[in-house]
Formats: sequence, structure tokens, C-alpha cells
Amino acid sequence: MDFEVPGVSLPVAGGGAFPVRRIYCVGQNYRAHAIEMGSDPDRQAPFFFSKPADAIVQDGGTVPYPPRTEALEHEIELVVALGGGGSDIPASEAQELVFGYAVGLDMTRRDLQAAAKKAGRPWDMAKGFDHSAPCGPITLAEMTGPMSRGAIWLRLNGQIRQNSDIGAMIWSVPEVIAELSRYVALQPGDVVYTGTPENVGPVQRGDQLHGHVDGLVDLTVKIS
Ligand code: MN
Repeated sequence: MDFEVPGVSLPVAGGGAFPVRRIYCVGQNYRAHAIEMGSDPDRQAPFFFSKPADAIVQDGGTVPYPPRTEALEHEIELVVALGGGGSDIPASEAQELVFGYAVGLDMTRRDLQAAAKKAGRPWDMAKGFDHSAPCGPITLAEMTGPMSRGAIWLRLNGQIRQNSDIGAMIWSVPEVIAELSRYVALQPGDVVYTGTPENVGPVQRGDQLHGHVDGLVDLTVKIS
């Protein structure tokens, strides 16, 4: 073949790069967001979807407004990067797999998602499109310790739009990893977007998005 497929990696705060194998995402992991999506907020087993690894957009990058939508929305999320893997991992051992954490955006074509939900069809084109996974640099878990609380917020053109605490997650990071590993064999290089808090909303061309989770490197991207 006369072409190459480049790998995708995320910078690691303090130096180095983390090669990304797969991107998994958790749906509805904050009670108030489940309610705003019209779902039962009671604790049900987490559900998962995925994005292609090359949907990553680096910090400081640009998200081109995607085709086939009039409702591109932001979802600010804590991202977990795995340095180990396995299947059927007990929650009590899952923390050991965490290489580090980052601030991510699960960009969503909300109109396509709503249509897919209504028709009982897959979410792939609503969630796994080009440039749909902005992610900031990874901060090592050995620097942060296990992350179970701390502010998570998103500013849109300087104004707070989402504002919560990762302690409000229905399923903790170890619980998410454990449950996901019951469906697929996790491997080093996998990253997991752990769900968004409430007040997701639309973005427009020209918007600046600034995401934050306490203890991590902020994420900034622009919509073009
Ligand atoms: Mn999400």
C-alpha cells in the first residue's frame, strides 16, 4: 500500500505520549443528566458506546462543525486512560489499571441521537463522527491519586454552562472499568469517557470551549 494510517496519541503532562487504542464512553452516569435526557435516574447498570480512536482532537485544536446535524452539543467528561487491561476485573482491582486522567468532550449530534433512540437504531453516527472526541493532556494517576471527587465544569465563550462534581457520578471510575471489562477485554491504551453531568447544550461555529476537572490540565478547543 502506498499510504500509512497514523496512530493516535495523547500528550502526558510532564513528558511522553500515551498511544490511544480504543475510546469507550459511558452513557448517563450523572443523575441530573439522565433526567434531562428523559431517562430513569435510578441506578441501573452502566451502558457503553464507543468512538474511533482517530476522533481525538488535541488540546488547543479545532472541531469543524460536522455535517448532517443542526444540534452539535457539548458533554464535558472525566476521561480515564488505562495502562493495564483484562477481562472480568473486580472493582476492587480496577484502580490499578488507571494510567492517568484527562478532561474530555463527548461531542454529540443530538438530533441524530434523538432520531436513533426513537427508531431503536445505533448511536454511532450521533457519537462516533470525525473530531467528536476532544481530549486534553493526561495527568498521571500517581500524581492525582484515585479520582472520586472534584469540580468538573465547562465554559462556553467564557460563560459557565456545565458545573458539577465528579463525586456525583452514579458509577465510580473503578465500577465503570469493572463493568466495561465484563463486555470487552480492556487493554493498555484504552480510554474511557465516564459520562457528563447536566446542562449539556448546543455549540455554534466560532465558539470557544474550555473544560476543567480539578487536578487535571484544562482542555480548550474551538468550533469552526
Ligand atoms: Mn457522554
